[in-house]
Amino acid sequence: MAKRRKIIVGNWKMNGRLTSGLNLAKEVANRAQSEIPLSFDVVLCPPATLIWSISEALMDTPVLLGAQDCHYANHGAYTGDVSAGMLADIGCRYVILGHSERRAAYGETNQLVAKKVAGAQLAGLTTIVCIGETLEQRAAGATEEAITEQLTGSLPEKFHPSQLVVAYEPVWAIGSGETPSPDEIRHVHQLVRRSLGVMGETVPVIYGGSVVPSNAGSLLVEPDIDGVLVGSASLNSDGFWSIAECAR
Ligand code: PEP
Repeated sequence: MAKRRKIIVGNWKMNGRLTSGLNLAKEVANRAQSEIPLSFDVVLCPPATLIWSISEALMDTPVLLGAQDCHYANHGAYTGDVSAGMLADIGCRYVILGHSERRAAYGETNQLVAKKVAGAQLAGLTTIVCIGETLEQRAAGATEEAITEQLTGSLPEKFHPSQLVVAYEPVWAIGSGETPSPDEIRHVHQLVRRSLGVMGETVPVIYGGSVVPSNAGSLLVEPDIDGVLVGSASLNSDGFWSIAECAR
């Protein structure tokens, strides 16, 4: 089986202003430039307000740009929303969909996420689809069931595996400082691959939830962990780059 290229994704969430965001993106880009050719992919997902300026700043650098969400439609009467086509237009290559914070705070269902995946792939974006069990599901021994249901429900009937990344993000691990063991993560990633059938060989399955420089090495060394989705630790370029370097 061919070795999959690791992907390091920074999810800035609702953080950053024009100056601080641009500085952070440029610092990451400088680190990446000094390692060309990069042996892994680096994707920054700033808030929507910063995407265009950062897109310009990242031009001619190996750092890729993503968004944190999008609408399923291409355009129309959807006040306050942003479409995948608009994101692609300003330089995005990736979009995070179905993050547990959106599922919890905005009631995003698997069905809605699946519609967004279809719309975003049509617009040419690679979709990073987040799935993960809650603490209650874990305690009840229902992790496998929760993962399988969320994964199959969050994908449209037809999708391009080459435009899909699955992010396993246990809800209880996000922002908590707690992580599953590499063994537990490997177990879930193998489940995801089996659920995807033949596509599971090529679709990257990455891990997210309290990834920091001190645990990144033990995660990224695993052949079944194709990368990491980093929240708070992506807001500091030194910390983020020490995580990324573990993917070398
Ligand atoms: C996330 O929200 O996707 C995430 C992984 O956050 P953190 O790294 O802060 O746990």
